[in-house]
Amino acid sequence: MVEVIVLGSGIAGLTASIHASDNGAEVSLISPDYSERSQSVMAMGGINAALNTKGENDSVNQHFTDTINGGCNLNNKKAVEMLTRDAPEIIDWLSRLGTSFTRDDAGNVDLRNFGGQKKKRTAYAGSRTGKQIVSALVNACRKRESEGKIKRFVGYRFLSLIFTDENECCGVRCIHEDTGKVKSFTGDAVIIATGGYNQLFGKILGSVQNDGFVTAKLFTQGVELANLEMVQYHPTTVATSQKRMLITEAARGEGGRLFVERDGQRHYFMKEMYPELADLMPRDVVSRSIYNVSDGGKKEVFLDLTHLGEDTVKVKLDEVYEIATRYLNINPLESPIPVFPAVHYFMGGILTDENHKTNIKGLYAAGECSCQYHGANRLGGNSLLGAVHGGLVAARNAVLESVKGNPIIDDELSFSVCGDKSLSRTLDEISEIMNESMGIYRNEDGLKKGLERLENLNTDVNAKYYDYQKVQLLKLLGKASILSALSRKESRGAHQRSDYPQSDENYEKPTLARYENGEIVIT
Ligand SMILES: Cc1cc2nc3c(=O)[nH]c(=O)nc-3n(C[C@H](O)[C@H](O)[C@H](O)COP(=O)(O)OP(=O)(O)OC[C@H]3O[C@@H](n4cnc5c(N)ncnc54)[C@H](O)[C@@H]3O)c2cc1C
Repeated sequence: MVEVIVLGSGIAGLTASIHASDNGAEVSLISPDYSERSQSVMAMGGINAALNTKGENDSVNQHFTDTINGGCNLNNKKAVEMLTRDAPEIIDWLSRLGTSFTRDDAGNVDLRNFGGQKKKRTAYAGSRTGKQIVSALVNACRKRESEGKIKRFVGYRFLSLIFTDENECCGVRCIHEDTGKVKSFTGDAVIIATGGYNQLFGKILGSVQNDGFVTAKLFTQGVELANLEMVQYHPTTVATSQKRMLITEAARGEGGRLFVERDGQRHYFMKEMYPELADLMPRDVVSRSIYNVSDGGKKEVFLDLTHLGEDTVKVKLDEVYEIATRYLNINPLESPIPVFPAVHYFMGGILTDENHKTNIKGLYAAGECSCQYHGANRLGGNSLLGAVHGGLVAARNAVLESVKGNPIIDDELSFSVCGDKSLSRTLDEISEIMNESMGIYRNEDGLKKGLERLENLNTDVNAKYYDYQKVQLLKLLGKASILSALSRKESRGAHQRSDYPQSDENYEKPTLARYENGEIVIT
């Protein structure tokens, strides 16, 4: 029987485990926490599929075109073709597993508008879409666990990939968070589903569990990364006393409008600048517009929901209502919400082909950690879709693998405390450098300064093996991201160079990052 190892148990990892198990594999599903604590549960607004139940002549072709246009032509087109083609069947599958999507009066899965899409195409479950999908997948996974088809290993963080003497990937080495014991998991194929590398940019909107260790470690072990310069800023986030929080795009999908005050008047600037899609332009465009009208954050920009009515705000946008009232002391039915863009999503990451294979035999990647669907800018609602689709496709291919060589397990690791610098201060310094050099607008001068600061940063932190390594790895991933941004001498999607403001067709291809003989190589 084929043994498949899945690392990470958000929506991509759960889907991959269920599908690999249903295709006859024995699955080991490994994660630090249970799925209910993965970032996937935070997803609010919805998941895209051209179901065409709103009489708008929506189609798979239109979904494909919107995704490619949103991604500024940097997407893997074959992968997007498969993604958009399979999307309606995915909604059906998730419904059959028990995801309680909000339904319209005719009993169809209801659809809402989302950014960069000309048709209503985003299925949702109130504003708790992620929680609902995770809950259905966890239930399906548990059934297979009880039959012994999926084995769960909770409490483990990744240390490294295990290779065979024929250079195939055949497993992962992990450390137990509580006991500190190291365990090797070996099998025939490995699917990485560890989400975005949030910690590189500090306390951003997503989960801090997604610390970037895995992506960076894989890089040092020969795995190719792509489009690291493509970091998505979500237009509408709010500062709370704890961290920045997201006001879902669904708020604009339901009719919310952005404005800035000029001469004592409200200016609904998105409508003025982009009459057709207005507030529903792709995220990179909306974030830039907010940045520009606010003069880089000097003036306040507001999201106005006051005209939407109680049913929409309290029912369809219940989580927005809760964030505004509980954390900001604002009743969104009466007053607008001040918003500003913040880092939200990584379009770049582990490069895969449309079959979710990496450049290493036996190694697959799916979900936010992987790079293939979204190009230079992801459309809202395409990430949950990509996580499910990626899990399905990776599993379908992984069950066909079989290892030929013998696993090579590294020497014992040393777990004594190293260095004397503060761990948290050093992590803050790294994220500060990344945020400053890779903002909504960047240029050669700022990027080079960021690179120099990272190179000179003392990372000899007072920490045990995992955290010590994490800091060194994040420094490396940060450098690879900045070098990728330096090498793309044009503006495209999320990558806006004030010194190269135009797109250049010579750059209509991914930026590839490799680690060769201790050096970062960008092509
Ligand atoms: C506030 C918010 C709202 C969002 N709303 C939407 C939306 O409406 N629609 C949409 O399409 N997208 C949305 N997104 C994006 C979407 O939620 C994610 O991109 C998607 O859920 C990623 O799923 P995943 O399975 O790839 O990763 P995750 O759900 O992030 O799971 C990653 C898994 O990997 C594990 N892991 C991480 N690091 C390690 C490590 N070092 N070792 C071992 N395991 C590790 C984690 O514990 C976890 O189990 C939203 C994101 C946020 C933050």
